[in-house]
Amino acid sequence: MIVKERTKPEELEILLALKPRLELEEKVASNLYTLEKGYEGEVQFDKWFTNHRVESLIINDLLLEVNGTLFQIDSFVITQDRLHLFEVKNLEGDYYLDGEKFKTAAGAETKNPLHQLNRAEALLKQLLKNLGFYIPLEPHLVFINPEFTLLQAPVKSPIVLPTQLNRFMKNMNRVSSKLTSKHTKLAEALLSLHIKKSPFSRVPEYDFDGLRKGVICEGCGGFYELHSKSKFICIQCGQLKNIDSSMVQTVKEFQILFPEIKVTTQSVFEWTGGILSKKTIRRILKVNLSYIGEFNRRYYE
Ligand SMILES: [Zn+2]
Repeated sequence: MIVKERTKPEELEILLALKPRLELEEKVASNLYTLEKGYEGEVQFDKWFTNHRVESLIINDLLLEVNGTLFQIDSFVITQDRLHLFEVKNLEGDYYLDGEKFKTAAGAETKNPLHQLNRAEALLKQLLKNLGFYIPLEPHLVFINPEFTLLQAPVKSPIVLPTQLNRFMKNMNRVSSKLTSKHTKLAEALLSLHIKKSPFSRVPEYDFDGLRKGVICEGCGGFYELHSKSKFICIQCGQLKNIDSSMVQTVKEFQILFPEIKVTTQSVFEWTGGILSKKTIRRILKVNLSYIGEFNRRYYE
């Protein structure tokens, strides 16, 4: 049973909403790429993990703190007599371990994900001890991308390679598990300790005036123009899209970027660069969002 679903990290949502509207600096663009890739991998992992048939509690995306140190967990799985800590990597290409170093086949050293896993494991063990839970913890480093290989992978290690995913799951499914209130309490304790607002979030500064206005095509990131009464057309890829659903999407992006600005007919009119009349915007907002207040002071959520 999934106790905590995975959601797109806020940092990723903000960067995705900014991308078509602002020239991103190279390091911001590369951060966006890393986040997108990481999230894709985690979604793949979740899909694979639906094959898990054993009674369990699954908590995704935890940010925890122990003795003033923060650490992240991609997935945490509670079964009767085992706790599983999963670190998911979406790397592709050939890599190898050179002692403590993790390198690309070309020899370039990159961050060793085993170190990250060890750190999370040590901190989590400390936290479990503080909470008074004594169930053995197994760490796993899952390389989810089928295009990834680790040359000369060590035989005994927490690493799960793409070619081992099926067998790994078979083994996971071989154990029997019956959960009790003890397990539920552990899940609840971890959920209550989860830190919602990540301090690691790095987004560039932006303001309303500095962003390009308009409605963005979900397919290619280009801007729409009005095609007919009910359709937009993307000036970049030619896709036609229903104006209502695109406007709802664009309002969502606006809310992610500017949680402090109220959604009103006027603010949406400005945000979308006057592509639709205020009358049409008012109708769309009224039909698709809930609103607070009357007429001139009305805003939407
Ligand atoms: Zn397009």
